[in-house]
Amino acid sequence: MMFLFFFVYCTIQGNEEADRLAKEAAETENFPETPLELPKYFIKIFLRQKMLATWQMAWDDGDTGRLIHNIIPKVSLHPINWTRNEVLFFTGHGPFPSFLHRFNHAETSFCSCGEIGTPIHYATVCLLTTSYHMAPPSQQHQPIWFRRVANNSTSRRKIHNLLHFFQRETSLFRPDPN
Ligand SMILES: [Zn+2]
Repeated sequence: MMFLFFFVYCTIQGNEEADRLAKEAAETENFPETPLELPKYFIKIFLRQKMLATWQMAWDDGDTGRLIHNIIPKVSLHPINWTRNEVLFFTGHGPFPSFLHRFNHAETSFCSCGEIGTPIHYATVCLLTTSYHMAPPSQQHQPIWFRRVANNSTSRRKIHNLLHFFQRETSLFRPDPN
């Protein structure tokens, strides 16, 4: 019954309302017993919403990718268009001593300046990267800082350039073995 109502209602109200009702049906698991009688566009919207809801639950409850979950909490079919350098920075899976040391690709997690070489270290306080610095966050505000940087095109350009510099001058950031 709800779906007959849906069909009539959507014909009158248009796609936006179709989206809303299909989303509601996907969230409440209220799918009809005879789906073939439903308009094709409804089934498409329903399945898309269902898939997004399942994906969202997996994304919220997952153990991995928590840094990115902090920046992009909501799943979406639209690409985020980060450059490779931005991906390296925001995931932390880049040429940073902190990351390389974790996987035994560097002897130490320290930067040559004497502090731990994390992405945020290079973007905010490292003496070797002052041209690319942004204001540092307080410890408890780090998640907000990452979100803000990821959503600001000027900050993202700085990150992109920082990584470019970092990759060009890798040896500069390695502690002197002696
Ligand atoms: Zn440093």
